[in-house]
Amino acid sequence: MDDLLLPVVDEDGAPFWEYAARGELRVQACADCGRLRFPPRPCCPHCRSFASEWRAMSGRGRIWSYVLPHPPLLPAYAAQAPYNAVVVELADAPGIRLVGNVVSGPDAPLDSVDPERLRIGGPVRAVFCPVFPDVTLVRWLLER
Ligand SMILES: [Zn+2]
Repeated sequence: MDDLLLPVVDEDGAPFWEYAARGELRVQACADCGRLRFPPRPCCPHCRSFASEWRAMSGRGRIWSYVLPHPPLLPAYAAQAPYNAVVVELADAPGIRLVGNVVSGPDAPLDSVDPERLRIGGPVRAVFCPVFPDVTLVRWLLER
């Protein structure tokens, strides 16, 4: 696990990770016009306001796309192949898509779901995975 790629947290995105560590999926929204935006950034692309807030999402979404990475893979990932990388469109925020992995539970490895079960459009919900003491990743569970 030592060589996993971890999020690079910047000032704009720090709240996303802080909420994830508490088990909340939140997306940045403009405090003036109300539009959601992702990835986080200081200025609203719609009205140019610098005022923002973090809006709670339901955690529901659909698989917008996915891949099954093939070799060559970084050593920490080769050990977990075959695994998936998905792009999930949020049910509460059409057009906002997060990259992650479908897993079978918060502590499950990346290869815990048979790739045959993945479908474009398939419903998923967020799960919060503490991969290190100070890093919680948002991953996805298949809805049944
Ligand atoms: Zn705005």
